[in-house]
Amino acid sequence: MNKPLIDQLLAKPNVTLVGVTKKHTKAEVDELAALGVQVFGENRVQEFLEKYDPAYTWHLIGHLQTNKVKYVVGKVDVIESVDSLKLAQEIDKQARKLGIRQKILIEVKISDDPNKTGLPLSQLEDLVQAVQTMDHLVWKGLMCIASHTDDEQKVAQEFDEMKKLFDAYQKQYPQIDTLSMGMSQDYALAIEHGSNMVRIGTALFEKK
Ligand SMILES: *Cc1c(COP(=O)(O)O)cnc(C)c1O
Repeated sequence: MNKPLIDQLLAKPNVTLVGVTKKHTKAEVDELAALGVQVFGENRVQEFLEKYDPAYTWHLIGHLQTNKVKYVVGKVDVIESVDSLKLAQEIDKQARKLGIRQKILIEVKISDDPNKTGLPLSQLEDLVQAVQTMDHLVWKGLMCIASHTDDEQKVAQEFDEMKKLFDAYQKQYPQIDTLSMGMSQDYALAIEHGSNMVRIGTALFEKK
């Protein structure tokens, strides 16, 4: 485990560390927890369910199919990867059944990489407005995956654009407080450019 990195990130009062544990075992989750990591991210429903421990706080960070929503609502603290109206409606429906309010982030496709997931920017305003009408959702903010490139300037521009969007929406919707961006490769840049939640897998598991 990369304890120096974990310590460094946990020491930042304005940044939440999500330890991404996909492809790692429950024992490794426990190890991270022992080092102080408090939030864990999984990107696949099946794998999440195999590791799920209600003692920990979990975020679903990967693309979610509507037919799997029922397995995660109420178990995860935040669904970070809401990228369509249909998905938001299904989460709202399942949360209603449980009598809870499910926290969500809207995942924005900020990168021009066709392989990246997320809601196209042009549809963001419509989804934001729709989510306000769903009583069993709590909209907490925005998430993105930046372009996978060594071009730091390009990635910085994407983070800046997200931060601008986030600030503008926060003026209008003061309850939103989360801007989730930054992974192993780009977390430092993301924090520099306004992220307050980083989702880190690979770098946490490096032996130091
Ligand atoms: C895997 C994953 C991460 C973490 O990626 P690393 O490069 O291993 O830090 C972050 N966010 C999402 C959505 C992921 O699927």
